[in-house]
Amino acid sequence: MIHGVLDESLGSFWVPSWQRTSTAQLEATITVLKKYYRFVSMDEVADLLAGKSVTKCPVMALTFDDGYRNVLTDASPALEAENVPAIVYLISVSLDIKKLMWIDRMDYVLQQTNALSVDILLKNRSVTIRLAEWESFVQDFRDFRIEVKCMYEDDLQMNQTLEAEIGRLESLAMASLTSASVEDRVSALLSSADLEGLGSKILFGSHTVSHVRLDHIGPERLEWELAESKKKIEGHTGKNCQHFCFPNGDFNRESVDALLKQGYRTAVTTLEGCNKIGDAELLALRRVPIPYSTQNYEIVHAIAVNLFRSAKVEV
Ligand SMILES: [Zn+2]
Repeated sequence: MIHGVLDESLGSFWVPSWQRTSTAQLEATITVLKKYYRFVSMDEVADLLAGKSVTKCPVMALTFDDGYRNVLTDASPALEAENVPAIVYLISVSLDIKKLMWIDRMDYVLQQTNALSVDILLKNRSVTIRLAEWESFVQDFRDFRIEVKCMYEDDLQMNQTLEAEIGRLESLAMASLTSASVEDRVSALLSSADLEGLGSKILFGSHTVSHVRLDHIGPERLEWELAESKKKIEGHTGKNCQHFCFPNGDFNRESVDALLKQGYRTAVTTLEGCNKIGDAELLALRRVPIPYSTQNYEIVHAIAVNLFRSAKVEV
């Protein structure tokens, strides 16, 4: 499981407080894991787990969440050099219009604000984020992201509030990542024009239309998020979109049933661990986060620890 990737040697327009995977980390992880695993596509993962094909050695699939454009600029040269397939889970609204993750917009604008702290208004109370020092800012912004997700039961309402608060901060700071004129490798998401550039070994899956948590929306919206994103991705790639990634890792029985009904073959969670052939819930698969290291023994250790978690996910 990988999100954004940044080649640190290239520098960037700004530094996000939420650490991205470096290209060096990605390369080191692939090199080490190639000794123990065969890298396969999610199509092959689906076939193997469903018992439609067999393998002599354990397999690994690389998954990129959120569809950051830096998968194209900062990760795909390494993937091509190593000849490994991967899947990118797209937030389909960003294929047609420039849309950024709220986390990135807020991260950026907070860093542009000339104040010692800011208060963010949520529901009926405000949350303070300290800005004077980097460490306290990173910690407060991380806590804020957790808190905001706990506070709202309805993601559409949460997104509306965040949109308004980010807009207010952008006016105060007179800076906005959305309107920045530079091509930002940190936050830009893949557009439909970018998809072809990723080559034939990259599959595209759905990460919903608008990155909402599936257990925090109503049944009609759930159906729409799954169907509309699938249709949009299939329209742009000309291929079946059969794989899904749960935003924030949130899933429940209803969302798994809805995925099955819409014709998805696999769905990945953020539950850590590996998936056993013949004993895995294909629509709630475990994953292993990419280790934050370029040291061989640390990478092997982080992956090995995850192998102990292999019980089938019950939904
Ligand atoms: Zn996501």
